[in-house]
Amino acid sequence: MRTSRAEALAIAGAAPHGPLIAGEWLTGHELMLQVVDPATEETICEVAEANAEDVDRAVAGARDALDSGEWGRLSGAERGRLLNRVADLLEESAESFAAVESLDIGKPGFEPRFIDLPQAVDTFRHFAGWADKIHGRTIPTAGYLGRPTLNYTVREPVGVVAAITPWNSPTMIGSWKIAPALAAGCAVVLKPPEDAPLTSLMLTELVQKAGFPDGALSALPGRGPVTGQALIEHPGVDKISFTGSPQIGHRVAVAAARGFRRTTLELGGKSPQIVLADADLDAAAQGIAVGIFANQGEVCAAGSRILVARSVYDELVDRLIARAAEVRLGDPFDDATTMGALINRTQLDRVRSYIDAGRSEGAEVATGGGAPDGPGYFVEPTIFVGADNSMRIAREEIFGPVGTVIAFDGDDEAVAIANDSEYALAATLWTADVSRAHTLAGRIRAGSVAVNGWAPIDPRLPWGGSKLSGAGRELGWAGIEANTEEKTITIVL
Ligand code: NAD
Repeated sequence: MRTSRAEALAIAGAAPHGPLIAGEWLTGHELMLQVVDPATEETICEVAEANAEDVDRAVAGARDALDSGEWGRLSGAERGRLLNRVADLLEESAESFAAVESLDIGKPGFEPRFIDLPQAVDTFRHFAGWADKIHGRTIPTAGYLGRPTLNYTVREPVGVVAAITPWNSPTMIGSWKIAPALAAGCAVVLKPPEDAPLTSLMLTELVQKAGFPDGALSALPGRGPVTGQALIEHPGVDKISFTGSPQIGHRVAVAAARGFRRTTLELGGKSPQIVLADADLDAAAQGIAVGIFANQGEVCAAGSRILVARSVYDELVDRLIARAAEVRLGDPFDDATTMGALINRTQLDRVRSYIDAGRSEGAEVATGGGAPDGPGYFVEPTIFVGADNSMRIAREEIFGPVGTVIAFDGDDEAVAIANDSEYALAATLWTADVSRAHTLAGRIRAGSVAVNGWAPIDPRLPWGGSKLSGAGRELGWAGIEANTEEKTITIVL
């Protein structure tokens, strides 16, 4: 049974509304964050904000859990069992999570139901599997002062990991950070996004319910400049795993550099989707529409630069316009809705200002471009044509349902335009020629290249980018490496 908005509001009302620190849910804080439903602009509930003192206590609690608590003593197999329990519990409550994620973020229910929640469950299961397989290497050397040596390495948890997440997919992205860090034996202090903190707090409660010892995971809801800033500056944090904008990612990198602390930075994107003349245009248009309209375009890997071979430009644009016409903008709790509301008024104003910028720079709106009257932060699926790669709509991350179509002549020009970006997160190629696909995939600068499918993110595959898209990888074995230190031990025999 699908959950109604009223039922989702009741679930949200019963969710934790404050920080969890070393196993204790705090109550009685004065500062309260308003959590707003982006589709109605009504307040869902209020959540307590963690202050600098709370950050201190959470980091100290995490350290204690590692150094003297039960958490630090658990074996990999025991950690794996607990992670599997989280996966089971999350699967059982997936519908509740999906409903609250819809309510909190404004996305239509089918997206968290079919993407975010199954991904999060799969991520916990994947890393449960790694937890008892984290081992080092034995490495021969030339010996020491004429004596032979036995040299081996072990992988130890990095320590206290601050996990900071954005509002677009908090359960899924939260799982990408929490699951590998807990599998590696780290203690995690999670700072959920202030615009959509509810499912992160529900997930924290669920981790506690699964039996994780106190301090293994704490959660500190709060605004970025308050709670987030205190957390990234805290000297007791050994690693910061951050997903968000390049602007804040830069702050994180600077704060981490002071103590040479580890970071994983998953930042923005302006990802190209390249359509070669031999592509299946129906499949390409369908995939491109998903790549730019899914989650209202509020996706780091959104394929927002649509590069099309000139010979099929018009045909592809016609198909994209037809796809956009199929989008049903509306209430995330209506089953007919395929696109919901943007997260808040600031984001709506930002997206509208980019649509204005596209028009004033000379691109043409082929479809969309408007924003229905409120309530709710809605904007129409929008496609710009007649654009070039120098325009702001082609260079800057919009984080909304706005695609910019650019023509190219030949593979070299396609690669040149694709790589002419400050970002390098993901890219998609649409072609029937497997040889060209492999060649071009090698020439495109991006953390991930998908051929004939948009952003097939999977917990087994490394995920991340370079340039303004960030540094480091999460997921798969890369997620374990990112949360462990390799220690070398040499025995002189
Ligand atoms: P944001 O950078 O504004 O916020 C992200 C998180 O950082 C939030 O929890 C916020 O509270 C916190 N924060 C803000 N200021 C802080 C500070 N001074 N110190 C510490 N923490 C602070 O980003 P957003 O608007 O929430 O998310 C959108 C951005 O995230 C986009 O650029 C998008 O591309 C990116 N994103 C990237 C990925 C990826 O995997 N690469 C995934 C999703 C989103």
